[in-house]
Amino acid sequence: MATLTPYLPSLLGLDLPANLSIDWLSGAIDLVAVLLLALGIKGLSKVRSARGANQLAAAAMGLAVVGLLIDLNPSPTTWLWIAAGSAAGGLAGLITAQRVPMTAMPEVVALFNGCGGLASLLVALGVSLYDAEGSDLVGLISIAVSVFVGAITFSGSIVAMAKLQGWLDTPGWTQSPLRHVVNIALAVVCLIGAVLLPGDPGGLPLLLLTVGSTLLGIGVTLPIGGADMPVVISLLNSYSGVAAAAAGFVVGSQLLIVAGAMVGAAGLILTQVMCTAMNRSLVSVLFGGALGGTPAVGGGGSEAGYTRITSCSPEECAMALETAERVVFVPGYGLAVAQAQHALRELSKLLEANGTEVTYAIHPVAGRMPGHMNVLLAEADVPYEQLVEMDMINPEFPRTDVVIVLGANDVVNPDAKSDPSSPLYGMPVLEVDQARQVFVVKRSLGAGYAGIANALFELPQTAMVFGDAKAVLNGLLSELREMGVGKAKQKVAA
Ligand code: NAP
Repeated sequence: MATLTPYLPSLLGLDLPANLSIDWLSGAIDLVAVLLLALGIKGLSKVRSARGANQLAAAAMGLAVVGLLIDLNPSPTTWLWIAAGSAAGGLAGLITAQRVPMTAMPEVVALFNGCGGLASLLVALGVSLYDAEGSDLVGLISIAVSVFVGAITFSGSIVAMAKLQGWLDTPGWTQSPLRHVVNIALAVVCLIGAVLLPGDPGGLPLLLLTVGSTLLGIGVTLPIGGADMPVVISLLNSYSGVAAAAAGFVVGSQLLIVAGAMVGAAGLILTQVMCTAMNRSLVSVLFGGALGGTPAVGGGGSEAGYTRITSCSPEECAMALETAERVVFVPGYGLAVAQAQHALRELSKLLEANGTEVTYAIHPVAGRMPGHMNVLLAEADVPYEQLVEMDMINPEFPRTDVVIVLGANDVVNPDAKSDPSSPLYGMPVLEVDQARQVFVVKRSLGAGYAGIANALFELPQTAMVFGDAKAVLNGLLSELREMGVGKAKQKVAA
């Protein structure tokens, strides 16, 4: 069993016993890292613990790198490469995290998934090209899986990111059945490459497998679009875990196998949750072509399509809020665009000071990424207990005095329940149409992500308050303050 050479302990300033084995130490660190990662993933399932869980998972990854370095025990020159790579990657991550707006997070997640896939692909390519002699059959199968899934994840994620960013449209030909023929042909090329790989790990089979799976990633992602994109992103996240697990088998890292399997499973569960929230089957997402994301034919989402719209001023809306006992806010994508979360929190506080019961209704696909509204409202310190998930809040709407829909559209569209011809039909929605009075705050009668009209806007209990969400919320705040709302109760409390 190898013992620690002087490099690492001296670099870390450790005074370790001479007989301490590298395997023992790196194994112990790996075990702690896996436990922390598992706890981190578990913590991400609750809004309250998600922030700490993220830090826990990041610490686990840091520990995993330390464990690997102890195991590898690199030479001083290799240390320089590792340090330079870590610094470059860390800096890129830091800049991205600070600069990217919350609304662009799905693109970032897609890019990071792609980076994960590319890393696994490169590891497998490196071993296959330069170090395949020592690999047994399991090792060679792992290389094939890692190259296949890693390349699909990489190219698919880049396409997904480009589509979300608006750099790439869904080409018309990808909606024809021909695309299935092309994808099946590419899958056959990959299979041939994988079967021939053990005979010639660094030659033509590897080239066939790599090129075939890269093109296949593009071929399966390009036709998907619109409202199906979040499902694809979470599926690609799962793939990146599978690719990492396969790369773990390639390099003999138990930690990578376990961590990759956990990410793969978590991504698959998220994919299932997203499919359920949008009432789509995974098969129809992957093979059914693009859904939504374009304006409905016949001007369904255009202003001309509506005939019975009632609009009102912030002043009228403020009067309804003043007397309401129970108010539910429904945040949507437009609230994030307007960055109006802090103004919303101010308004809630004022209403609560007036004795009003305030809650926020959270739809699983509101916004543009899973948990978007939770993150947005957490930024404004909205108490977690006021965020109510769709299944819990829906039965509460009939006894709600006022619902304020803030930049949400598709997630409150009643056609999803009642109109079988609607593209949203079957998607569970927030049943705000059951409330006594509904105010919809948005800039126009324009459509949401699905590109279709919203029957909610024409209901008798609905009034539109046109304007940017932040401007309207600030307007409501001034109106309520002018009315003296909150002051009387505050005085009593004082
Ligand atoms: P939505 O249906 O996309 O509607 C957003 C509304 O916000 C628009 O109708 C827009 O109307 C309004 N808006 C934009 N900027 C505004 C501003 N500054 N102030 C006020 N309003 C503004 O949003 P949603 O109800 O949150 O539904 C989410 C949709 O995105 C679903 O279809 C979902 O499937 C899809 N999606 C979700 C995810 C996810 O993971 N959550 C990812 C991708 C796609 P105006 O232009 O008239 O203002």
